[in-house]
Amino acid sequence: MKGTISVWIWIAGGVIAGLLIFTIANSYFARTTRTIAEQRSLEQHNELRTQINELCWSSSENKKQYTVNLDENVLGVYLTKDKYTEYNETQFVDFILNENVSSGNLLCMKMKNKRLICSPIDCSTRMTFLGAVPTEFSLSALINNIIGNPDSFEYRLNFSKFGKEVLVSRAGGKEVLPLCNLDNNCTLKECREDCKDCYGPNPICVWDGFCNSDIDENCLNSIDCACNTSEGYACCLNDTASDNSGCVDETRQNLSKGKKCFCDNECNISANLTCNPTSSSFSSYENACCESGKSWNGTDCTNIKPKLKIVFMPVNWNSGWVSFNNSAQQQYDNIINNIPLASCPEKAEGLFLNTNCNVNFLDGCQCADLIDIEKCVILSGEDYDYIIGLEDSDVCGSVLGFSCGFGTVFSESSVTLVSVHELGHEWGLNDEYVDACMCGLGLVDPSANCLNLTLNGDDPVFPYTSNYCGGGSCPTSYTVTCYGNKNPSNGRCIMSFGNAPGPRKFCQECLNHLATVPIINC
Ligand SMILES: [Zn+2]
Repeated sequence: MKGTISVWIWIAGGVIAGLLIFTIANSYFARTTRTIAEQRSLEQHNELRTQINELCWSSSENKKQYTVNLDENVLGVYLTKDKYTEYNETQFVDFILNENVSSGNLLCMKMKNKRLICSPIDCSTRMTFLGAVPTEFSLSALINNIIGNPDSFEYRLNFSKFGKEVLVSRAGGKEVLPLCNLDNNCTLKECREDCKDCYGPNPICVWDGFCNSDIDENCLNSIDCACNTSEGYACCLNDTASDNSGCVDETRQNLSKGKKCFCDNECNISANLTCNPTSSSFSSYENACCESGKSWNGTDCTNIKPKLKIVFMPVNWNSGWVSFNNSAQQQYDNIINNIPLASCPEKAEGLFLNTNCNVNFLDGCQCADLIDIEKCVILSGEDYDYIIGLEDSDVCGSVLGFSCGFGTVFSESSVTLVSVHELGHEWGLNDEYVDACMCGLGLVDPSANCLNLTLNGDDPVFPYTSNYCGGGSCPTSYTVTCYGNKNPSNGRCIMSFGNAPGPRKFCQECLNHLATVPIINC
């Protein structure tokens, strides 16, 4: 019994030892085989690179064949512009079977469980994806391209050079075409890729003799789409009746007064007509042929009225018209530059009258004085949106200007910002040298500009304290107690007092309100 047991033990031990030796040997051979296979794949990667580089430096139109032999652990060999794009095994199988084309200046190889290996090549190259495809996938798609044992994937490759590019196709497979075929016909794809026959980097590909509306090529931006003038065509892209090139035929040209148009060259040029916006009272169409500066109102071409017209009336003016016109121009510029219309100043007009208006100012200057000024302008026959009565002497004491809310204001010419301050009141703005919103002094519209602590609106003027500005006590009389809000240039608001610290502009509170007044917005 004892002996038998020991014999059995010995036999079992022998079997275990044998298995151990077999396993070690097997894994050693497997590892060696794998290392050799990897080594061989790396060599193939290197050889492929050499073959491409040789062509890179050879002359154009060169061709050659070469066969690469990839081991089954090679998931993919491809070209890329950067090494940050990586693919997974499924994507590789898909790309290889579909013969997708890769392109770039980096030749990369991905092996199973290994880091991606990429090496630069000397010129831009296009090649179908290569690699091992697991046997569970149908190999029928590859049968033409892969020769021999499916454990090693052998690809017979055709190399050619086109322009500066190297093209690598599988023999018997899809031919890899150059990105730019340089056939002087610029396709959308070639245009986007900035090919030589597309005259990039301009996104519009001109001079290829092909008017390509797919890339927005038209008679305005490309010679390829030029209109056939000898057959009476003209370029007018905006016209809904224009063809694919943007050209219109003779029926859309030589249009007479009042006809609907889209471009100046559709109107009768010999009658000096241009295509102008129609007047606001006419809404059947947006543009009609009229003389320059005039607009169609449904029956006639009439002068285009500006959106904002300010008439400057000289009041008791003593220092001559040159000086009046200069003063009025300064006041006008300060108005326009500080309102939203500054971005479309052509929509505003300043008219400087040169006939004096004599006014006997009432004590302390009152609204009745403004009615006298308004009467002078009405007598002149000029139409207006606002009237500025401008005076060159001091008639109102410390008051530099005033307004009463009916469109006519009074300004002394000594301070060039007076008119814009007074018109500010006409547009709903409050004074900021007092706490208008709290005290009701100089208040026009409580929903417009108020003293704002975040804009330093609580800064007091000596001898007052911040109690009087931005919430607190009110002074007993209408007097300068606050500096007003700071404006975006860090000076004080135009709605503050005449000589408050500059640079003078409207504060954000005022700008917010002015943006809601239609007549001073574009
Ligand atoms: Zn004021």
